[in-house]
Amino acid sequence: MNNEPAPTAHEARQDGLIVIAGAGGFIGGWLTRHFRDLGHSRIRAIDKKPLQNWYQRTPGVENLCLDLSEREACVRATENAAEVYNLAADMGGMGFIERFRVECMRSALINTHLVEAAYRAGVERYFFASSACVYNTTLQQDPNVRALKESDAYPAMAERGYGWEKLFAEMLCQEYWAERHMKTFLARFHNVYGPHGTWDGGREKAPAAICRKVIEARHTGSHEIMIWGDGTQTRSYTYIEDCIRGIDRIVHCDELIATPINLGSSELISVDDLVSLAEGFAGIRLQRKYDPSAPRGVAGRNSDNTFIQQVLGWAPSTAFQDGLSKTYAWIEQQYLARKAGKRVVQDSM
Ligand code: NAD
Repeated sequence: MNNEPAPTAHEARQDGLIVIAGAGGFIGGWLTRHFRDLGHSRIRAIDKKPLQNWYQRTPGVENLCLDLSEREACVRATENAAEVYNLAADMGGMGFIERFRVECMRSALINTHLVEAAYRAGVERYFFASSACVYNTTLQQDPNVRALKESDAYPAMAERGYGWEKLFAEMLCQEYWAERHMKTFLARFHNVYGPHGTWDGGREKAPAAICRKVIEARHTGSHEIMIWGDGTQTRSYTYIEDCIRGIDRIVHCDELIATPINLGSSELISVDDLVSLAEGFAGIRLQRKYDPSAPRGVAGRNSDNTFIQQVLGWAPSTAFQDGLSKTYAWIEQQYLARKAGKRVVQDSM
């Protein structure tokens, strides 16, 4: 008889191979580091970008460059895997997803091949990074929006292109549990931001874009800022640490198998508020110019966190001001490094 105490859930999964798809990007890069910091020794990080363009590279991890929209690449990626985290997608902020809907929808190929390969490899847990863009857009036409709860995705009228791809992928993952009994997990992220994210090149989202514009103004002596839309659009923004903690909790909670769940802050911020915060960090005030013809997305969107609180007893809690101040500081450091002729890694459209 074995008298050793039963391993905790955390210890029990120390030895299984963790595969992170999209590890060269923002969230995948942080998730790789998170598992490494927890002591996991077997991690495979995958991205289609060449290694020198990955936002972060974590030591002691197997890094592979593979295009996961191809079936064979997904088979290779999932060999011997215990857990698979799919964060690979062709995506960006509103400027990208409104302009490149075909590219966004073609990410369906990644999840379609990866979930099948994971199933065939006998993977225990499969995570898909979904988005608040799955929610019915008719519920988001006012900046003082009612926070969106999970059931608001149906009847469906998702964000054109990107949102429909996410909704389809969610449904596919749900059927892999219903029909084939592979445990799948689905988090709907709400605007994730933080250091080591995209801040330039056309794929950046509002928090990084506004920080960069204010930093540019500060260092060039410009007195103006161009704002997309009329400044009243509202969103809730999720700090990267909350997002990473949330993914780990969701994937290791069996109550959440095949159940989409919001992973987002519930602090509603307008674009004008965001600009004021960034100006505060810079110690300047800028003349605001508005471009109503620029991409702006829905008028308002917030996360209803009743369900995540109920199941996990937890929800993202980083105050936007605190998260943005760290993000601002990191972008300024990158901006100055680039200005000094040093290489900084950023995607372009
Ligand atoms: P990101 O663009 O920084 O990272 C995505 C990574 O996927 C990139 O490094 C890209 O090279 C890689 N990739 C794209 N196509 C690939 C392919 N065919 N094979 C292998 N790798 C490929 O984006 P992110 O912000 O880290 O987002 C990660 C996931 O979370 C995505 O699925 C995204 O749609 C979802 N999401 C993000 C947010 C957010 O605010 N950042 C919000 C909602 C949902």
